[in-house]
Amino acid sequence: MGAALKPGVVTGQDYETLVTACKEGGYALPAVNVTGTNTVNSVLEAAANNKADVIIQLSNGGAQFFAGQGMPDGNAAKVLGAVSAARHVHLLAEHYGICVVLHTDHANKKLIPWVEAMLDHGEAFYKETGKALYSSHMLDLSEEPIEWNLSECARVLERMSKIGMSLEIELGVTGGEEDGIGGEFDESADNSKLYTQPEDVLQAYDKLTPIGSFSVAASFGNVHGVYKPGNVKLRPEILKNSQDLVARQHNAGPNPLHLVFHGGSGSDKGQIRDAVSFGVFKMNIDTDTQFAFSEAVGKFVNENPKAFLYQIDPDDGTPYKKLYDPRKLLRAAEVSMAERLDEAFVDLGSKGRSLAQ
Ligand SMILES: [Zn+2]
Repeated sequence: MGAALKPGVVTGQDYETLVTACKEGGYALPAVNVTGTNTVNSVLEAAANNKADVIIQLSNGGAQFFAGQGMPDGNAAKVLGAVSAARHVHLLAEHYGICVVLHTDHANKKLIPWVEAMLDHGEAFYKETGKALYSSHMLDLSEEPIEWNLSECARVLERMSKIGMSLEIELGVTGGEEDGIGGEFDESADNSKLYTQPEDVLQAYDKLTPIGSFSVAASFGNVHGVYKPGNVKLRPEILKNSQDLVARQHNAGPNPLHLVFHGGSGSDKGQIRDAVSFGVFKMNIDTDTQFAFSEAVGKFVNENPKAFLYQIDPDDGTPYKKLYDPRKLLRAAEVSMAERLDEAFVDLGSKGRSLAQ
């Protein structure tokens, strides 16, 4: 029998156990961006239905939305929304009977204070419960010189590793834009920067491994968002080159690095499988689940147009309360999003493989 974990949010050694099980088992977990309790609960429901572990993540904008878009201090909302979302997941995840990795998405140079403020809360939560609030945070300093990127990552990881947290870093640039971070993706340009150099990955490994747990968002032609087929060339073998170089230099076993895949929406399923075989344990999914959520809302409104114009039918007096109750359209959205995730668990090979017992 493989490793077993208690259901709920995993941090520290349990997080390593889960990531190692993914890499050794040749499967990956979907990392789903959430923005409120509806999307969180949809992810938990989908994971439970698929007997799969899952990664729940918030961007800074998603965290702000979680606290309420109308909150006057937007920077405080980004911190408090992240805390609120995490506490919601800590409370509920174990009752869904699966393991959850809690993570925050891209933080560039300007958002380092956001990460540090979340760590203030994370340390307080650790004192209270013996567990970090988040399993991991991401620092995306890929637009800065690599020396500064890595020294800043090392500084923050020192703090995180003390409470059993892991750091996700980015080397090379994922094309496209995610919640205001990153530039417009130019489909006609020479996109050589979209491919991470193995030497850079080795440098990160040498610097960060002595400090704590980390993962690398390596760029292999992946782009945020969905583009016309053919305009983006995914080259998963770039990941293998990095793994092989690190393994050679350090006499390590296969796939020593924890790799993550950004911009997975719309990817070819064969290339997803290749990426997973090269040590990718996490594939982000946002664009496709956003569409699944909204598509169901659009369908529900189109099927019941009068219920969104009148409380009572002006012609025959039918009351529409049962249709305009927001739970109706939100539930349709949750189910649709969970169904899209059914597909993701199958594509990534994680269906039926939860470590929770
Ligand atoms: Zn990303």
